[in-house]
Amino acid sequence: YDDRDGFIWMDGGFVPWRDAKVHVLTHAMHYASSVFEGERCYNGTIFKSREHTDRLLASCDLLDMPHPFSADEIEAAKVATLEKNGFTDAYVRPVIWRGSGEDMGVAAARNPVRMAIAVWEWGAYYGDAKMKGAKLDISKWKRPSPETIPCRAKAGGLYMICTMSKHAAEAKGCSDALMMDYRGYVAEATGANVFFVKDGEVHTPKPDCFLNGITRQTVVQMLKERGVTVHERHIEPAEMADFQQCWLTGTAAEVTPVGSIGDYSFEVGELTRSIAGDYEKLVRGQLVAA
Ligand code: PMP
Repeated sequence: YDDRDGFIWMDGGFVPWRDAKVHVLTHAMHYASSVFEGERCYNGTIFKSREHTDRLLASCDLLDMPHPFSADEIEAAKVATLEKNGFTDAYVRPVIWRGSGEDMGVAAARNPVRMAIAVWEWGAYYGDAKMKGAKLDISKWKRPSPETIPCRAKAGGLYMICTMSKHAAEAKGCSDALMMDYRGYVAEATGANVFFVKDGEVHTPKPDCFLNGITRQTVVQMLKERGVTVHERHIEPAEMADFQQCWLTGTAAEVTPVGSIGDYSFEVGELTRSIAGDYEKLVRGQLVAA
């Protein structure tokens, strides 16, 4: 990703893509002091842009990092970065981190807090699996308790077990892994939330120790508007045997049907298909209220 044309917004101005570099003593690289966002721009408009910026700054607060820019400045910078690169449909990645500076230990309050925004074209996150139903592994890693990590933050450090889980899944020929939480309940995939369907009703894990995704909240609202009952609750892994449909939600994943999780299999059913279709229309501003 580092060797290409284009421009990256860095600390308030544009730098050529290949020159957007940091020093090896960057605090974030040693101690995971970074937070980020993942957003998608459709037809020139970033879906729920302000919500993502608010979550980014909330993640800074949770990690005790001062805001390097205001929400309004970040909103303007995202638009400018898309324009500068000539994209109307792209993935948007803002990242904020503690840089190198006075301190090179755990504490780094005197180091500069830096920010960058990169945008690139990114198609379906699960590729071909997107409409056929993705194959998921079950991870051996558990989402930690809220007393162990700031689970509401979209922070780089919280992705260490996600990368390990996803690599293990890919080595087995799966697209992703489902993670349980520290209590053993079903939690989420490595970069997306999970939903299940049973007899026309929807069941989704209560987001009390992982990200309550912006896509997740959007889909819950879409389901409620259709009059579908949504149970947000603790789900035991063995319950997956009785669920008929399953899908993932996330900015990158959008709504992706799941065909199997470990030994449990699901059909790509009517509700899954229509929610995926409606989400696609909604993000493009084409969903007409019933
Ligand atoms: N969980 C994790 C671990 C994620 O990385 C993401 C993607 N940001 C999500 C859930 C879904 O969040 P959103 O719908 O806000 O993209």
